[in-house]
Amino acid sequence: MSKLRAVKGMNDWLPADARRHRVLEDTFRRVAGIYGYGEVRTPLVEPTPLFVRSIGEVTDIVEKEMYTFEDKGGKTLTLRPEGTASCVRAYLQHNVQASGPVTKWFYSGPMYRRERPAKGRYRQFHQVGCELYGDAGPFGDAELIDLAHRFLTELGIEGPRVLLNSLGSGDTRQRYRDALLAFLKPRAAELSEDSQRRLERNPLRVLDSKAPQDQEVSADAPSILEFLSQDDQTHFDDLRRTLDQLKTPYEVQPRLVRGLDYYTRTLFELKGGSADLGSQDTLCGGGRYDGMVEQLGGPPTPAIGFAMGVERLLLSMAEGDPSAGCDAFLVVTPAQRQLAVGVLSQLRSAGLRVDSDIRGGSLKSQFRRADKSGAPFALVLGDDEASAGTLQVKDLREGTQTAVAVSATASHVLENLKAP
Ligand code: AMP
Repeated sequence: MSKLRAVKGMNDWLPADARRHRVLEDTFRRVAGIYGYGEVRTPLVEPTPLFVRSIGEVTDIVEKEMYTFEDKGGKTLTLRPEGTASCVRAYLQHNVQASGPVTKWFYSGPMYRRERPAKGRYRQFHQVGCELYGDAGPFGDAELIDLAHRFLTELGIEGPRVLLNSLGSGDTRQRYRDALLAFLKPRAAELSEDSQRRLERNPLRVLDSKAPQDQEVSADAPSILEFLSQDDQTHFDDLRRTLDQLKTPYEVQPRLVRGLDYYTRTLFELKGGSADLGSQDTLCGGGRYDGMVEQLGGPPTPAIGFAMGVERLLLSMAEGDPSAGCDAFLVVTPAQRQLAVGVLSQLRSAGLRVDSDIRGGSLKSQFRRADKSGAPFALVLGDDEASAGTLQVKDLREGTQTAVAVSATASHVLENLKAP
């Protein structure tokens, strides 16, 4: 029989990785919380038209990457490739705009795209993200970018960089499209197959292409910043001024476009960290999508959001397990094995994270396991301790040892854990 394996591009998370993921998520919750964002959870599966209509038909995601299937009732469903469309759907479905003019949401969870797997690029990956509805900016834009930047800084990611652009709105996009098409058309034969096919329908996609020949052709393309309307320009200038005021560093990148069709005006990415992620080095992608709520059947509602790839963040963070498994490891003599069951239960009820070798074994091998577990304390339960109702608490970092009543052990260890 062939070996059973996880689906290509989809990863298991064993405890050490899962713990790092948890710390990252907790940090994101805390940072999003201090900016007033509340958590939403939406289903992993949505009706396919939601993504086709919001992400855009001429995009990599919709053209090639969605996991789409028919359910037993004949409905066409898709595993969500990103979080924004689902949030907008939920925002409309629950008539959230009626409860106040501005809504701030964050989410965290798995997404699915059938991309070619590589380091930092998977078919099941995780995103944390924020969405802000009802504010046309630019202060909301600046605050959101500041939030993203603060989160990366708090994760300890070295030198986070914010890349910033404006795609303008309405008319601006159309005028730029025309100019870009006029520039690209005479050199169409030099473009990649994908770009040639998309040229007429979506020439901006060429700027986003990773194909070297496309990058070469588009290097001298006109910049969208030369096409901004007065209103777009004012929005962009005010955003930049506000980021300066917040001391959030950024670099203007006039050629920045992103693989989703829905963006208007503000567009940004964050990069950083020391990991070599090659072309998968974008940690965060975000922007304004003022047209999407209306496009999905709601009232005109300005919106902006971002999403970050959890796997890429974890690769970019310093190595190491941010919270070791247990606080203490209980070492037990054979005669006290039965008593140890109750002692462990008592310590755990008191909030201590404690493990022991449930197979028993020699004291030497149990101490070896205690060392290996990374727990800073070993607790010893021998015959003398059993009759005295105590445990020997051994500080494995210092080598010191004291007898402590069983009932006081948990608080003793927890108190001493705080000491440097
Ligand atoms: P997007 O939703 O395409 O704007 O992507 C936002 C962020 O999600 C990217 O900057 C990546 O960090 C992450 N991301 C997107 N696609 C993948 C993938 N296939 N594997 C891992 N991370 C991804």
